Amino acid sequence: MILITGGAGYIGSHCTLDLIRAGYECVVLDNLSYGHEEALQTTNFSKVDLANIDEIRKVFKKYPIKAVIHFAAFAYVGESVENPQKYYYNNVVNTLNLLNMMLENNVKKIVFSSTCATYGNPEYIPINEKHPQNPINPYGTTKLIIEKILQDYDKAYGLKYIALRYFNASGADPKANIGESHSPETHLIPLVLQTALGKRDCIKVFGDDYDTPDGTCVRDYIHVNDLASAHRLALEKLFNGSGSDFFNLGIGKGYSVKEIIEKSEKIIGKLINQQISERREGDPPTLVADNKKAREGLDWNPEFTEIEDIIKTAWNWELNRRY
Ligand code: UDP
Repeated sequence: MILITGGAGYIGSHCTLDLIRAGYECVVLDNLSYGHEEALQTTNFSKVDLANIDEIRKVFKKYPIKAVIHFAAFAYVGESVENPQKYYYNNVVNTLNLLNMMLENNVKKIVFSSTCATYGNPEYIPINEKHPQNPINPYGTTKLIIEKILQDYDKAYGLKYIALRYFNASGADPKANIGESHSPETHLIPLVLQTALGKRDCIKVFGDDYDTPDGTCVRDYIHVNDLASAHRLALEKLFNGSGSDFFNLGIGKGYSVKEIIEKSEKIIGKLINQQISERREGDPPTLVADNKKAREGLDWNPEFTEIEDIIKTAWNWELNRRY
């Protein structure tokens, strides 16, 4: 059985679905602070906060857990700058609790949800795994600290980990009725689509004077199902006896904010209200992944390589969203 922390969240629910489709048994642990009960893909669910070590212990006693995929974390960059304490406790201390329980129960395989935010301002593009890691906000720092902890736990206790550094997760499963739903929503694609639906007045473009082809920020959008399949492949690599490792997960192509709006307008068939506004603090001009290592090392072959197809699945979710 695979323990999935944060399995009621956006990426965690898609990953659970992918594992179940592949025949794995899963148990989800989530405190539902940001996750959604409606997103759960299994009835093996414990509403547990990782701050509560006794409750985590009970989950390990109840289920025959063989490996862990750890998504549970706070992930608002701006909030992490304003309230770092919340982030260091929830993301770092609570991960230590989880790792304690893994060691106590001799569970020594973990796939960890890391981020391209651990790289900070890019020194070159595309970003490969050798790029220096200098996060520029507490959120990125919490994820980097956990990567370091995992390295040390491997050396000392033989805990094997694969850290996956995501670029911009997007889209929704084309068949299941699950998708992206954050409160507050801060991500570009859902905000653009909600503006098209009239749920928001306009989409603010955060800066159009960056050093990019059209002046707006360029990002690497990766479909959430392709993130999910990479987690499954990482898990299988660990089951096959692999040593610890880390991989970038992106498609390797960049799209600007303006391009995302234009492509959405074409798909939906209407113009979307937009307004150029101030730059958002901490946004590098361009973030694009070099995904060669993941393609080769995980034997990963992403299905959604065209941004239009990704946006279409997100649009379908926005039209039919349940939560
Ligand atoms: N963005 C924007 N307006 C918004 C939200 C986001 O212009 O209302 C831009 C943001 O500056 C970034 C890109 O869209 O360049 C993707 O932002 P998002 O928050 O979706 O993901 P992030 O890159 O922060 O992980």
